Amino acid sequence: MADVQQPVASATLDKRACPECGGDLEWNAAKQALVCPFCGTVAPWKPDAATPGAIVELDLAQALAKADDGGRGYGDSRREVQCQSCKAISVFEADKVAARCAFCGSPAIVPYTALKDAITPQSLLPFRVSESQVREAIRRWYGTRWFAPNKLKRAALTDTLRGLYLPYWTFDAHVHASWTAESGTYYYTTETYTQNGQTRTRQVQHVRWEPASGELDHFFDDDLVPGSEGAQRDLLEKIQPFPTTTDLQPYAPEFVRGWTVERYQVDLRLAADLNMTQMEFEVRRLCERAVPGDTHRNLQVQSTYHGRTFKHVLMPVWLVSYTYGTRAFQLLANGYTGTIAGQRPYSWIKITLAVTAALFAFFVYVWLNGQN
Ligand SMILES: [Zn+2]
Ligand SMILES: [Zn+2]
Repeated sequence: MADVQQPVASATLDKRACPECGGDLEWNAAKQALVCPFCGTVAPWKPDAATPGAIVELDLAQALAKADDGGRGYGDSRREVQCQSCKAISVFEADKVAARCAFCGSPAIVPYTALKDAITPQSLLPFRVSESQVREAIRRWYGTRWFAPNKLKRAALTDTLRGLYLPYWTFDAHVHASWTAESGTYYYTTETYTQNGQTRTRQVQHVRWEPASGELDHFFDDDLVPGSEGAQRDLLEKIQPFPTTTDLQPYAPEFVRGWTVERYQVDLRLAADLNMTQMEFEVRRLCERAVPGDTHRNLQVQSTYHGRTFKHVLMPVWLVSYTYGTRAFQLLANGYTGTIAGQRPYSWIKITLAVTAALFAFFVYVWLNGQN
């Protein structure tokens, strides 16, 4: 049995209690407000009202050196369980652990004990698409899928729908890059040649190479690296973007109370490496564009990064999981924008019936024509 993870950072996270009964408020997507689950009192919520501008970017080097990573835990007493099938780690309120994995539906979930609590999220995007809205959207989505098995529809519209906060890392950095390259400029000469005994001319392209060099500065703002293990990567890419520049809110436990949170499994160090690879790719692209002329070769880039900061943020996702045959399928909906992406099986029964019906119609047609 796993011990209850004691949140280290709970003292620094302010709790908002119900003004009527003192109960813990929960975020309600339909009402876009904090609602008391005990007495139904709605506590009006204004973006950033409690802690304006409180989303903190944390220094990456310090965090990797274990000096300061902004605190640990989710600010409430929580239990973590890991699915033995898909390996996703879900974080629940201590008394509300689900019996099945939200990502794949497997009942094989076991307590997960980490060496250390997860880094506390700095911010999140609160759910904006409510459960009834997402069911309606999935119903419409399902209606446009040809030959999808009815099981998909049932799964989408019944209780396998879960609202989840998925872990992401975002990174900021300033980069200064200096580059050298050979810049190529096209020029053309006219050549004469003989074809079928006739003298003709043609334009031939050449390149004049000249050394070139330059410097550039760029600021990377909120580069995203997903930390999810449970959600299918290709589906996640399809339901992005999550608007991170304007609508992120400072993390508070009441936003995630009543929702399931996934613990990141891409840890900060790995995420920082992935972010560096993304940035290097992008810096090279920027330098390529800076080389004058029509083409270039031998591009060498020297870049220095400074002021690298990060945040652990949570993104809202509605997820449907179901098995069809022996395979597990997922359908994801962006909990903020409503964008849907799903894997879907094909129902061979429906396809066989459709093909049989088409063949039958064809034979009837042939037979009727033969009668005339
Ligand atoms: Zn109350
Ligand atoms: Zn699972």
